[in-house]
Amino acid sequence: MISGEQLYVILLGAPGAGKGTQAALISQRLGLAHIASGDLFRQEQASGSELGKVAKSYMEKGLLVPDEVTVKMILGRIAAPDCAQGVLLDGFPRTLEQAKALDEALAEEGKRINMVLYIKVSNEELLRRLSGRWICRNCQAPYNIVELPSKVPGKCDACGGELYQRPDDTAETARKRLDVYFTQTMPLIEYYTKAGKLVEIDGEKGIEEVGEELVAAIEVRVGK
Ligand code: ADP
Ligand code: ZN
Repeated sequence: MISGEQLYVILLGAPGAGKGTQAALISQRLGLAHIASGDLFRQEQASGSELGKVAKSYMEKGLLVPDEVTVKMILGRIAAPDCAQGVLLDGFPRTLEQAKALDEALAEEGKRINMVLYIKVSNEELLRRLSGRWICRNCQAPYNIVELPSKVPGKCDACGGELYQRPDDTAETARKRLDVYFTQTMPLIEYYTKAGKLVEIDGEKGIEEVGEELVAAIEVRVGK
């Protein structure tokens, strides 16, 4: 806990920029709940819910799940007791409509987004990372066959779970997701810059270094 105020921090960046890896690293350290929209959708799919079925039809094409259901799911999640100290949002918002809906919902409760950390990575690097990504089926920890291999091939270092490649990480869908990012999510950079909330972090440095810069940026902004 680094401030008396409930903290709302957004991690912004392309698919493959390292949001999930970094969120897992820093959320505990800062006492924030890690809320990953993609993980929530995958949980809904695994449970066989209606929302899961809807989400699946978009996700497998590399498209965004419609704003209405996405916003509803996230606002519900943010209200949970484990978010009392604040949240680290990973993968949400991804459209201007989502960002505005989030701002409005928080404002109604006298709250606001404190800062937006934009993890910047070049296009070439993004494609390279996405096609090498493997995820733990059990705890969702991400690995990369090139950059961050697990100690035992095919097994999660953290929990021993089986590693698998997400169906939307294949080359073609990964490219589609990057297109969607450039057209639908990039406008958020301007939106949050204008709001004076954006901080840019170089996402091509090593995982630990990026993590340190993110933590430092949050501490500078909110005071220790
Ligand atoms: P990545 O950040 O690597 O793209 P995610 O796990 O965050 O992976 O997202 C996977 C998929 O889940 C997206 O391609 C999209 O279909 C869906 N999704 C996740 N977050 C959102 C969101 N905020 N709005 C709409 N769809 C989303
Ligand atoms: Zn695991």
